Amino acid sequence: SRDDRIARIASAIRVIPDFPKPGIMFQDITTLLLDPKAFKDTIDLFVERYKGKDISVVAGIEARGFIFGPPIALAIGAKFVPMRKPKKLPGEVISEEYSLEYGTDKMEMHVGAVQAGERALIIDDLIATGGTLCAAIRLLGKRVGVHVVECACVIELADLKGRERLGDRPLFVLVSST
Ligand code: AMP
Repeated sequence: SRDDRIARIASAIRVIPDFPKPGIMFQDITTLLLDPKAFKDTIDLFVERYKGKDISVVAGIEARGFIFGPPIALAIGAKFVPMRKPKKLPGEVISEEYSLEYGTDKMEMHVGAVQAGERALIIDDLIATGGTLCAAIRLLGKRVGVHVVECACVIELADLKGRERLGDRPLFVLVSST
């Protein structure tokens, strides 16, 4: 059943306390990748949700959105577009700054990868404060005129209320952790 699959996925995610610094409970999805059934169930659950929704682009956020995004894109017949850290993409880029706990970071995307009016799914492994997904939404939505159908993550850290920061943009998660 769906619940069995979700339970297996949740238990395959390893939590490492105090990484990368004290007080952070790091949700490590590399152990999910070691369980081929749980990894496949993860991809299947997303594919079941997004197949037939006329999505032409799956935008994956560096780095762990690059693990989950491409198999979903292939299964639903969409293209995959990487949303990268600064100075990684070789072509002309557009970028959006976003704030971190200390300072700011930037997200970049190739100009011409997506067109106004396309329907996109944004994927990352985890939503914490929602700042990263907000930057991706701005980049695709405000800057390019793409319709962001939904953001999808394997894990939501619900206490951080990132969902509220996304406003009216729907968020779909498999595992909600507190
Ligand atoms: P945020 O912008 O605050 O929603 O942070 C989300 C981004 O930071 C995602 O790309 C996550 O991979 C990463 N991240 C934040 N907190 C954690 C955590 N506790 N465990 C693993 N990854 C995290």
